[in-house]
Amino acid sequence: MTCPSIVNGPSIVNGIGWGTLGENFFGVAECRVPCKWRVCEGRVLQGTDDPRNFLRRRLLDPARRIGSMAFASLQSILERAGLASRDQFVSWSDNWRKLAAAGDVEPQLAFFAKEGGMSEEQFLQRLATALGWPFLETSQLTVSNEVRKRVSTKTAFQFAVLPAGIENGVLQLACHNPFDPAMQAAVQFDCQSPVKFGLATRGEIEKALKKYYGVGAETLDEMGAEETIDLELTDDREITEDDQDASVIKFVNQVIWEAFKDRATDIHFEPSEDDLRIRYRIDGILHQTPLPPQIKRYQAALVSRIKVMSGMNIAEKRLPQDGRINVRIKGEEIDIRVSTVPTVWGESVSLRLLTRGKIFFGLEKLGFWPDEDAAIRELIVKPHGIFLVTGPTGSGKSTTLYAFLSTINSVTKRIMTIEEPVEYELKGINQIPVRPDIGLTFAVGLRHILRQDPNIIMVGEIRDLETAEIAIRASLTGHLVFSTLHTNDAPSAFTRLIDMGIEPFLVASSLEAVMAQRLVRTICKSCSRPHPVERDYLLKIGFPESEIASTVFRKGVGCEECRQLGYQGRTGIHELLLVTEAIRPLVMNRAAASTIAQAARDQHMRTLREDGWRKVQIGQTTLEEVLRVTQNEEHVRSLIGGDKGVVA
Ligand SMILES: [Zn+2]
Repeated sequence: MTCPSIVNGPSIVNGIGWGTLGENFFGVAECRVPCKWRVCEGRVLQGTDDPRNFLRRRLLDPARRIGSMAFASLQSILERAGLASRDQFVSWSDNWRKLAAAGDVEPQLAFFAKEGGMSEEQFLQRLATALGWPFLETSQLTVSNEVRKRVSTKTAFQFAVLPAGIENGVLQLACHNPFDPAMQAAVQFDCQSPVKFGLATRGEIEKALKKYYGVGAETLDEMGAEETIDLELTDDREITEDDQDASVIKFVNQVIWEAFKDRATDIHFEPSEDDLRIRYRIDGILHQTPLPPQIKRYQAALVSRIKVMSGMNIAEKRLPQDGRINVRIKGEEIDIRVSTVPTVWGESVSLRLLTRGKIFFGLEKLGFWPDEDAAIRELIVKPHGIFLVTGPTGSGKSTTLYAFLSTINSVTKRIMTIEEPVEYELKGINQIPVRPDIGLTFAVGLRHILRQDPNIIMVGEIRDLETAEIAIRASLTGHLVFSTLHTNDAPSAFTRLIDMGIEPFLVASSLEAVMAQRLVRTICKSCSRPHPVERDYLLKIGFPESEIASTVFRKGVGCEECRQLGYQGRTGIHELLLVTEAIRPLVMNRAAASTIAQAARDQHMRTLREDGWRKVQIGQTTLEEVLRVTQNEEHVRSLIGGDKGVVA
């Protein structure tokens, strides 16, 4: 039995398919349909035999046939090419991995080149010679539209690969690291046909990409330098994929459309001396959007267009402005808050995309464990008291407060809020936006709200003594108050309020609970895979020893669903501190945050990081995510001096 598709060369690169095993890289023929991963070296494996097992067995028979790349590890390739000895490979790999884990994004081979005292170009040229592959001068290439379309913009930019030409139906692709399995998978997914690799440096590929790809590359191509740009705002603000409006209008629409499609929450237009950068925030992380180099020329026109759309004064360029745009995209109402700030290189513009109507704020969506959920439901129906949510900007505090309000919203309760800004409109709730320009601050608004006889008040943020005092007075006079505070952890909230100048007994008697929170990205469900982690590392980062054996650590390997990021969506991690009779006397006596933290842990409070570990254990998120959002926030742990393990 032979696999029919192998004959036609399914997803075959340079004559052979590809696979990886741990750090090593192998040639293996991958049969796409109908028996994915069953053909190795032209042989059909038995039934469900995993090719990786096959490769594992082949490991015993060390690398051979470097020319055709069959079953050669990266290490042996580099060794044979005279680019790295075995020892060098091991130590360079180690160093590179450490840097990569710390967030350094230097490509692996570029790093190796540097370690070997070579330029990336020299290194890749020698590698190309050893492999018998071409080294491509991407600046000399002319890439036709037909060729360009074989690889999506996303794949091209994410992995820095450039389709260079088609020869006998085989796509030639310039890449700087042919050993990247995620890149191979993405390329194969895009072009669904045989591919032949050539090497080029990342820098050169990126230059070419800017020329041939990029958001609005074609749109900008169409814009002649002399063309007068019509900035009339049309009444119809519907944005569709093929909006017929020309030039700048089309470009801006395209940027908003792309952002919407990628579930971005923010778009930033950031000018610099010789460039204009556009970045999207997706699941809390900024992603730079590829743009053609001529974008800078249209900076003024683009900014003007956005200002017109959002009802700002286009003549005013020296002062910050706020505005909003309401658009409909595919029938969905999008409310866009726009703000401009003058920088030395022109106005920087930020757009915040808020989906209207469809938002449902439910407690069950926030990622609470059953015990937390029960405690919170009890807290938010109390007749009075203060419930604070703490965390840095972007930790989802407002969403949590909205969920609280939505849960208790009823005709028998009068709920009023003062916010900066009102992010979502909640039906049946009186929401007041802060307007410092006309003197309507949190404190002033709050004072007036109290005269309006509310039952429940939400104050966007307590950031000064005056607001804190009024909030406390409100809670002591029979109002339930929700608010946020900028502290890293829950126990520090008490000291923060006392430091602001509030009497400790007032803090102790008014606060009912403090919850610190962060958002972690959740692993993409479509590409989540087990991902073993070394025990030493786990112990070093404080993962509970008793849970290591029973935990299957997971990771998203990247797929089309998640833009190859491995993550999709976010969930909360929480540190819920209930102000019980054990805590109140400590607050009253100005106890240190560490003492309060210890008492809270005695009553089963989980720290942010511990809560994060639990979400790692159930496969929702990764260790890296938990570390990322809690890296500077180990306060509780450090305060109480050492790792006490998980308090279950
Ligand atoms: Zn995925």
